Amino acid sequence: MTDLELQLQWGRIMAILPTTLDELRRRAREAAAHAYAPYSGFPVGAAVLCDGVVHGGANVENVSYGLSVCAERNAVFSAVARGARRIDAVVLYTPTDSINTPCGACLQVIAEFGPDALIVCCSDGGEKEYTLEELLPAAFSAPQLAKR
Ligand SMILES: [Zn+2]
Repeated sequence: MTDLELQLQWGRIMAILPTTLDELRRRAREAAAHAYAPYSGFPVGAAVLCDGVVHGGANVENVSYGLSVCAERNAVFSAVARGARRIDAVVLYTPTDSINTPCGACLQVIAEFGPDALIVCCSDGGEKEYTLEELLPAAFSAPQLAKR
């Protein structure tokens, strides 16, 4: 990513209003309350911003473990199923003291619809903002398919 691309990315991120981020934080916390996490005991909530609309998601576990889906992917898939195609921000909330970041699978899904998205990781102990580039610097992308 060039310096100009990075500046443009941060410009888009800074354009997200603080009140919108507050709404995303609230929706992510609300979603965590609906998590189905009887096996891990680790509820997670996520909220994604797509063209001004907020979509929420929670982790949903399964007794087979492998079929469990993270909150971030559920939120993104919910948004896409409602017609969204571009994610501007993802807010993740975990009721923990430490800050948790999305897993690799979720980052790859976020890369599909929000390569420039702001990612905010919130916990009861604080929060931290990231770019996708920081968390998944070598995301697999469509141009790589063309190099077959
Ligand atoms: Zn995940």
